Amino acid sequence: MTQKIQTGMKLKTLTTIGIGGTASWFAEPIDVSELRECLRFALDNSLEVFPLGRGANTIFGDFDGLVLSTRRLKGIKVERKEKALRVEVMAGTPLSELVNLSLRENLEGFYRLAGFPATVGGAVAMNAGAFGYETSRHLVELEFMDWESRVHAVKASELEFSYRSSPFPEMGIVVSAVFELPFCAGSVREEYQRVVSRRKSTQPINVPTSGSTFKNPPGDYAGRLLEKVGMKGYRVGDVAFSDLHANFLVNLGNGSYTQVVKILEEAKRRVYEEFGITLQEEVKLVESGCADGRKV
Ligand SMILES: Cc1cc2nc3c(=O)[nH]c(=O)nc-3n(C[C@H](O)[C@H](O)[C@H](O)COP(=O)(O)OP(=O)(O)OC[C@H]3O[C@@H](n4cnc5c(N)ncnc54)[C@H](O)[C@@H]3O)c2cc1C
Repeated sequence: MTQKIQTGMKLKTLTTIGIGGTASWFAEPIDVSELRECLRFALDNSLEVFPLGRGANTIFGDFDGLVLSTRRLKGIKVERKEKALRVEVMAGTPLSELVNLSLRENLEGFYRLAGFPATVGGAVAMNAGAFGYETSRHLVELEFMDWESRVHAVKASELEFSYRSSPFPEMGIVVSAVFELPFCAGSVREEYQRVVSRRKSTQPINVPTSGSTFKNPPGDYAGRLLEKVGMKGYRVGDVAFSDLHANFLVNLGNGSYTQVVKILEEAKRRVYEEFGITLQEEVKLVESGCADGRKV
């Protein structure tokens, strides 16, 4: 076994909601060659692999496999072009660094994603979005490592991105991404401030949460449906739907994965009975046998 791989890793501090069991294996590679070593280890030992970024949309149960954190794969390279900044970013870089760069350089796009925790790799995999902008919008190309640890460079136009969906992590682990962010004619700072204050007033951003729990169904909002069926503020043990935003799950102290599963079942049941709509989880519920990533 490579020295870099730990056993019996407690997972709850690795997610923003602070809920989680134990992973049998855990690693935090610092570069592509360590990442390759970790994947080879998983391959040799027939392990499931779950790539983890900031854990801002992830809730763990117990996971008998390898959790591979990308948080140490960091770095940004910038190339100035006539009308845009070409930005190459390693997957573990915090998304906030792209937001800050956008403010400094007055770039279109990423300032709209201000105020939520994420790594760039996690934002690409989730095609994270807000206020009419999605991560894939100015994505030009990326590199990923497949489950046999081969690195591929692909153009974004060859990949399918849609609402909160991408081919990752099914296809492998995003290692780096290249964006071409156009310079904006007007000032982005004012719009950025509107985004931040709207987020503060409508979302529970200062408590442990995993962001949106369910995807919005076509033509509607999961939060509206959940509120209508009485889920706003509804609590199971120490897990509740926020009083501020019915689609945000919060941990009130000592929430558990079992409580999460129970409250989600109740929410889905109520919405289905009232509206005939089956809500789909946006949040990733990760336990052995049902994780995104490498399956065995
Ligand atoms: C307060 C709050 C507000 C939020 N608001 C929004 C919002 O407005 N819009 C929005 O879209 N989301 C929002 N989120 C959710 C979350 O921030 C996004 O989904 C974000 O993109 C998750 O990034 P992450 O690095 O934490 O991913 P993780 O939670 O670590 O992982 C999410 C998924 O991406 C995969 N993944 C992670 N890194 C990689 C990689 N390098 N390669 C391949 N797969 C990878 C994981 O396997 C998993 O399937 C919010 C969350 C919080 C806590």
